[in-house]
Amino acid sequence: MKLRSFSLFFLCVLCASVVNAFSLDREAFTFTSYDLNVRVESKQQRLGIRGKITLRNDSVTPQKIAVLQISSSLDWRSIKAGDQPLPFVAQPYTSDIDHTGALSEAIVTLPEAVAPKGSVELEIAYEGVIVLDATRLTRLGTPEDVAHASDWDQINTTFTAIRGAGNVAWYPIATDAVDLSEANSLFDVLGRLKARESASKMHFHIEETGEGEPPQIFISGAMCMVTMFEQMGLQHSVTTDCEPMPLGPIVPVLVIASYAVMERPDITVRYLHGHDAAATAYADAAEQAAPFVMEWFGALRKKAQTTDLADPNASPIENGALLLTPLASVDPKLAGLMATHQLAHAAFSSPRPWINEGLPHFAQALYVEQQKGRQAALDYMGLHRSAFSAADKEKQTAPRSEDEVDRSLINTYDEALYRSKAMCVWWMLREMVGDDALKKAIKSYRLEQDNGASYMPRLIQAQTQKDLEWFFDDWVYRDRGLPDFKVESAFPRKTMTDEYLVTVTVANLGRAGAEVPVTVKFAGGEITKRLEVRGNSKGVIRVEISKPPKEIVVNDGSVPESDTTNNTLKIEGDAAK
Ligand SMILES: [Zn+2]
Repeated sequence: MKLRSFSLFFLCVLCASVVNAFSLDREAFTFTSYDLNVRVESKQQRLGIRGKITLRNDSVTPQKIAVLQISSSLDWRSIKAGDQPLPFVAQPYTSDIDHTGALSEAIVTLPEAVAPKGSVELEIAYEGVIVLDATRLTRLGTPEDVAHASDWDQINTTFTAIRGAGNVAWYPIATDAVDLSEANSLFDVLGRLKARESASKMHFHIEETGEGEPPQIFISGAMCMVTMFEQMGLQHSVTTDCEPMPLGPIVPVLVIASYAVMERPDITVRYLHGHDAAATAYADAAEQAAPFVMEWFGALRKKAQTTDLADPNASPIENGALLLTPLASVDPKLAGLMATHQLAHAAFSSPRPWINEGLPHFAQALYVEQQKGRQAALDYMGLHRSAFSAADKEKQTAPRSEDEVDRSLINTYDEALYRSKAMCVWWMLREMVGDDALKKAIKSYRLEQDNGASYMPRLIQAQTQKDLEWFFDDWVYRDRGLPDFKVESAFPRKTMTDEYLVTVTVANLGRAGAEVPVTVKFAGGEITKRLEVRGNSKGVIRVEISKPPKEIVVNDGSVPESDTTNNTLKIEGDAAK
């Protein structure tokens, strides 16, 4: 049975006889295992998949209906349990989780209701084409070239690359609709999906047929071995078996292309014909950055993997230590910076996004500092800061306690927060506890011992005498927005030894506290000291200088702040008494 609810009539039948589509609990089931046979016909841009999936009911009520979603460019052929074909209704479902902006949704009636925590195994078959399609972006008004640079996934004769959930639903998923016109819709839905599938497994068996040179086939995150290869004239057929891979933070990316491979001690670079120089430059940059990364984050657990993309405009994507990027477009001056992020992933991994992504971004800021000095690193973080400070400003007007919890670094699915804001938090921690202590804390992290949100904060606390609890509370466990420092007053006093003792009061008008640098400038020099100022309170610091003070500046850019217009206080004339 296969219906398409194009008409009102079918929609009504659907409501009456099968299920009320609008009250479906699409996220009731977690896909705990995928075992899929993938057939790719490159010339026709076709994909056909048969295989088994296991669904576990993670809701609190028994479920008689399961929802399976694939890209709208694919069609369901059959869904079975045991050997029994199951009745299902296939309908289009608008969702920007797929590049086409819609899904082919199968609403499946199970043989019997699955109890909470119970599982059901289904045998599925579907097929269709995967062509370049950026509908979800162009319908929002994104210019076509920009949209295609972002949504570049397709099957093609010479080069195939298809990302998974979030870009192309080429394996079945089940999520609520994503609407890209809503700010965090994709992050939220994808975040929930990744969290639900954090212990799931995938196993692929892939066969590709096409013309010309036989390609390499691989899935990001999995080792794949060629098991069969045939060439008949122009035609080739390659069969590959991939080792089972964990899902969760890793989203599988299917890549089929003729690559040359460059192996270095810390990185493998797969590059396309003609990109030899770019590949060498990238590998060199990575090898140069590797010792620095290892000094901070420990020895690499695995080699970093960089894979070339054919479209020079394609936006890069990362998948743990794997980076897919058009090598020919990598600016050699930025190769070290890119490789640093990738190598940090190769050295360090955590299921918690603010640690897993925050640290590689922090590594990049450290790298910039090492190459070009502290100010360059602060400028680099400043570029990131705009990503989250606008959103924070909005929230500050009417802080709600749910937002404090939902937007906290330990809970958020918002990339701006767990990447950019987390990077700034790591930087602040580093300045509070010092390089050596933070390196020790990071190196003492054990993935298998990370049993709670406070695990990493406790490792850092263990390395310092300073009380950090308030800091973690304001920045990690909760989202208290950003601080807003103001130099409230500065009173200079001449000492008996003809020096000047300046008493500076800094107010923090924001709700998040921080330790912030305070600089006292005078003719021919300046002195900087660090001052802890908690949220909605004041801090006082005394600085001794040799000449009368001219200007007090709070915050050098190392602490993200909501308003920096009140950070300077000029001291007119000789105010010292
Ligand atoms: Zn990353």
